[in-house]
Amino acid sequence: MRPDGGAASGKRRRTLVLDSGAISAGKPLDHEGVLYAPPAVVDEFQPGGRSRRALDYLLEAGLRVIPPTPAALGEVEEAASRTGDLPKLSGADLEVLALARDVQGIVVTDDYAVQNVAARLNLPFEAILQPGITEQITWSYKCRGCGKQYATLAKECAVCGSEVRAVKGK
Ligand SMILES: [Zn+2]
Repeated sequence: MRPDGGAASGKRRRTLVLDSGAISAGKPLDHEGVLYAPPAVVDEFQPGGRSRRALDYLLEAGLRVIPPTPAALGEVEEAASRTGDLPKLSGADLEVLALARDVQGIVVTDDYAVQNVAARLNLPFEAILQPGITEQITWSYKCRGCGKQYATLAKECAVCGSEVRAVKGK
């Protein structure tokens, strides 16, 4: 651990940005940390729902709910389209990444697509339950029938009607 200049504050407080999985997992999150979540993540928890209690607990513990800046969202969308993860990401996923960029926080998520885009943006991330990704992946989309490549995930191939699948690019 890095010495803190001898300040009496002790441990450096970490800044964590939580996705809905991180909240509902109910993991005892680092109580020394400053916790953030974007509004789109909080909206996923219905009042009275099973995980709502986990959210309420974190809100009482000081979870800060703020929206990301449009500039950060734009950067995240651009990075996600370059890695090919954009079709897999929800609005909440994009907000988590953008907010982490804004507050210079650590993304806490088990979602591999979110981790992959975080890696592309040089944002630190931590997994909740799963081991995190170990390599960056660039996804591309390819027809199983004729092999036509698509920049984004299509429901079916426009040429031959076969299934279009995500494949690992180089
Ligand atoms: Zn095809």
